[in-house]
Amino acid sequence: KMVFEVTDLDYAIGGNQIVKGLNLNVLRGDKLALVGPNGSGKSTLIKLLLGELTPDKGNCKQGTNLEVAYFDQHRHGLDLEQTVIDAVGDGKRDLMVNGHPRHVISYLQDYLFSPERVNAPVKSLSGGEKNRLMLAKLMLKPSNLLVLDEPTNDLDVETLEMLETLLNEYAGTVLLVSHDREFVDNVANSCVVFEGEGFLREFIGGFTDVESWYKDQNAKRQQVIKDE
Ligand code: ADP
Ligand code: MG
Ligand code: MG
Repeated sequence: KMVFEVTDLDYAIGGNQIVKGLNLNVLRGDKLALVGPNGSGKSTLIKLLLGELTPDKGNCKQGTNLEVAYFDQHRHGLDLEQTVIDAVGDGKRDLMVNGHPRHVISYLQDYLFSPERVNAPVKSLSGGEKNRLMLAKLMLKPSNLLVLDEPTNDLDVETLEMLETLLNEYAGTVLLVSHDREFVDNVANSCVVFEGEGFLREFIGGFTDVESWYKDQNAKRQQVIKDE
């Protein structure tokens, strides 16, 4: 049932301590959000979890048979076009997809397989449309771990809702980085909060209300400022 087991993890880049003493267990089916300011280390933690970076100290153990689908706009950058071409394909219309309920496929079909979209030159798609296709492709790909690093960028409201539904129905594990607090609240059931600027990182299990966490933190910060 274990997907990731992190013990006493330290990691620094160029003198910047990104993670210190982190302990974290991710179990199959968990929907874990990583939230916090830009540059606080969310993407770095994902790379540590996936074994793409080596910890300075401590351990990051992975479960067996992980099939990862990874969405990161920045990382995919240049091969996005090919990925989109793969997704809309060459006339293939095979919608037999492991484990996904029929109505989920219908959502995707609405977008992926409408004739004008299939034939639209990839270069003519907007950023949001490309993201939408990328996400649809990830949902079509059989996986048991979905890593979404800022998936909601440029998405319209309808697509956002579609993605929420997909993630709520997704049977595997989800790692989600997002600055959209409402989205995080609707999707995640636990949360790692990065405070940035060298502050302690914190894991909140079974967390369902990121918005109130932020409010609470802001209240504390304001109190600190008043006291100074
Ligand atoms: P986030 O995803 O939370 O925005 P990152 O994990 O991408 O943050 O980055 C955390 C910090 O590490 C930032 O200060 C970033 O500039 C720095 N950083 C990330 N990757 C590298 C790298 N390859 N070399 C040097 N610094 C890096
Ligand atoms: Mg990032
Ligand atoms: Mg929730």
